[in-house]
Amino acid sequence: MNYWNPYLETLPREAYDQIELSYFWRMFSFAKEHSALYRDKLKGMEGKEIRSLDDLKKIPLTEKEEMRKYQEVEPFPYGGLLGSDIEKVTTFRQTSGTTGKPIYVPETYESWQWRIEAWCHILYMAGFRPRHRVFLPFGYNVYVAFWEAHFASEKVGCELVPGGALDTKGRIHKILEIRANGMMNTPTYGLHIAEEAKSMGIDPASLGIERMLCAGEPMPPATRKRLEELYQCHVFDHIGGTEPCAWAGMCEAKDGMHIIEPFFMVEILDRETLQKEVDEGEIGVAVVTPLGRRSFPLIRFNTKDLVIKGKNSCSCGRTSRKIKEVVGRTDDLRKVRGVLFSPKTVEEVVRKEFQEVEEFEIVVERRGLMDVITLRAEVNPQLPVSSIEQIKTHLHESLKIATNLTFHIIMEPPGSLPRYMLKAKRFKDLRDI
Ligand SMILES: [Zn+2]
Repeated sequence: MNYWNPYLETLPREAYDQIELSYFWRMFSFAKEHSALYRDKLKGMEGKEIRSLDDLKKIPLTEKEEMRKYQEVEPFPYGGLLGSDIEKVTTFRQTSGTTGKPIYVPETYESWQWRIEAWCHILYMAGFRPRHRVFLPFGYNVYVAFWEAHFASEKVGCELVPGGALDTKGRIHKILEIRANGMMNTPTYGLHIAEEAKSMGIDPASLGIERMLCAGEPMPPATRKRLEELYQCHVFDHIGGTEPCAWAGMCEAKDGMHIIEPFFMVEILDRETLQKEVDEGEIGVAVVTPLGRRSFPLIRFNTKDLVIKGKNSCSCGRTSRKIKEVVGRTDDLRKVRGVLFSPKTVEEVVRKEFQEVEEFEIVVERRGLMDVITLRAEVNPQLPVSSIEQIKTHLHESLKIATNLTFHIIMEPPGSLPRYMLKAKRFKDLRDI
């Protein structure tokens, strides 16, 4: 069986639209009645005014900043974002707070089950099956992704091994000891485990991982390929967030990501105006409406994730809409010397062309009136001086071509730069301070 839910995953396009619209109407009325945020936001509007994806534009986007404001009122700690009776809340989660004060997210048992079911689609699509013993190399806490991964694995029928309370070496030993053949991690931590295994004299390919599901950071195709080469395994990506849930995942065709329809209504809007839906192949901002989660109603949530809109057909037979690639976050896009710059472009260049570079960091500073952009790259100092110089020149040229910016390149010995388990912070804009 190729599909987690053969009926839902192969619906004709019109059926998806119809089902999503009817779910949307229900969610609209529910949110208006139960959440203080939407009582205000949807005042004077009726759900039935929305008859197509295009009509959605009549409803203003939901921004994280206004959610923070609504969270400050009673009932503590969820405030006006709560969609259910507080006594029905069974778990507390929160956002990482990378972009400001964290948002507290309530789950009732019912909303949690809905969330897990959506995640099962992602896991199953990535080929995870009951034969997989899946290692989760993290200690769990208030962040939702670990728990989703854990419970969805169980529901799909995999054997889940929680890998908390161990350091990276300990985790490598555990993978070998219990012969885990699946893993779920951030791309950064996947690379770090491979690096650590090599330092222990273990080839990462010999760890026996067959399938890896990544999340937490935008993963350029070159990083995915590098992980596949290191582990000799299949690597899949997915995208989501604490507030809207995980809403798209990669199937075995590895050609973009399927939106989990009809669980989510997803718009990909022009990033300047946030009005017009972009065309296939264009970059836009993902705006997500989860259609069945009542503890924390969200309508047209601006994820600030930049994605390339994909085509609507796939060799796997699924009929849902697709995104081609995650480009980054609108927060990450900066102007450097007047040029629009995305750190993900640098990652793509480094991972694709420079196998010798283990870790890197980008720093932008202002010196006088000039922006200076520096790449610090870790390279083994035992390489001959001439090779290091060659890598430096090559990096300089490739980055100039890819970004139209002249980088100052500094070579560092291995271990000089920080390592991250969750969201990596490889881009530092010191001009903001
Ligand atoms: Zn597919």
